Amino acid sequence: MPGQVHVIDHPLVQHKLSLMRMKSTGTSAFRSLLAEIGMLMAYEVARDLPTRSVTIETPLAETTARVLDGKKLVLISIMRAGAGILDGMLRVLPNARVGHVGLYRDARTLAAVEYYFKMPKAMSERAAVVVDPMLATGHSAVAAVDRLKETRPRSIKFVCLVTCPEGLTHLHGRHPDVPVYTAAIDSHLDSHGYIVPGLGDAGDRIFGTK
Ligand code: URA
Repeated sequence: MPGQVHVIDHPLVQHKLSLMRMKSTGTSAFRSLLAEIGMLMAYEVARDLPTRSVTIETPLAETTARVLDGKKLVLISIMRAGAGILDGMLRVLPNARVGHVGLYRDARTLAAVEYYFKMPKAMSERAAVVVDPMLATGHSAVAAVDRLKETRPRSIKFVCLVTCPEGLTHLHGRHPDVPVYTAAIDSHLDSHGYIVPGLGDAGDRIFGTK
């Protein structure tokens, strides 16, 4: 595969993902687990974020300490399911700015059609992290990254919970420079574009719409 893929196989992430996969897991638990995994994934994704030194005073002495250059980060949620991971990531990265991309999947062609795109200012100064729980066909991911690149962010990472070989091949075929962070690479896509075994429709499970 041409692009980088980071599989986050930490036991806590894997445990929570397994609970989310179970069809018996209800909306409230699913949402909480997704936010918790979002927090844990933020930890990995933020590993190389820029920091700066500041002078602080502890109760004992003045010293220099490193803090996140938080203003330089933008989390981009692919609507609507991206909202679930976004919630968790924002708890760990509260100073991040947020962008939204609205895409729906054409039921016949599975192609992504854009209906909303809103980014913060000064994108060229920011590192972008795109979030969507499922990297399935890759159509939405490619469309979101195509559009995002027009704003010229400093870098782009893609974070999902579950992906599959087809989605990775599609995204990295078009955007080999975008590393993917995922908790699992599942077996394959079915004929409706669902990841197998996957966890079902992430949006429906987050929002209880089915
Ligand atoms: N979107 C989902 O929510 N689930 C899948 O399996 C594929 C795309």
